[in-house]
Amino acid sequence: MHEESLVRGLFQQVDRLVEKNCGVTAREINVEIGTLSGVEPELLFSAFKRLVGQSAFPAASLNVTVSLLTACCEDCGSESEVRDFRFVCPQCEGRRLHVISGDSVRLLSVVLELPEPENSGVI
Ligand SMILES: [Zn+2]
Repeated sequence: MHEESLVRGLFQQVDRLVEKNCGVTAREINVEIGTLSGVEPELLFSAFKRLVGQSAFPAASLNVTVSLLTACCEDCGSESEVRDFRFVCPQCEGRRLHVISGDSVRLLSVVLELPEPENSGVI
C-alpha cells in the first residue's frame, strides 16, 4: 500500500534524525502533504497508527499540514497558487507553469525527546 511505504520512509528519516541529534525518541512528527501529492491525510494517519507501534518511537504523534499547490511561471517568473488545477499564470496568462510545492509529502520537523541532563535538580 502506497501510504504504508510512505510512512516507512518517514520513519527511516525520523530514525536518522533521532540518532544524529542524540535523542532518546521522537515525540511529534510533522509532515506536509501537498494537495497534488495524491496522498489522503486520513489514509496516512491510519497507516501511521498501524506502523508506529513497530517503530523506535511508538508514542510519537503525527501532525499533518496540507500545503497548497504553488507554481512558477516560466514566462514571467512569478510564483502563484494554483487554484482548481488551472495552470495559467495570473500575471501574464502564460501556460508554462511548473509546480514548486504541493505535489509531495515532506517531513517538516520532528520533536525529539532528549536524554535527561544529569543533576537537573528536579525531584
Ligand atoms: Zn507569467
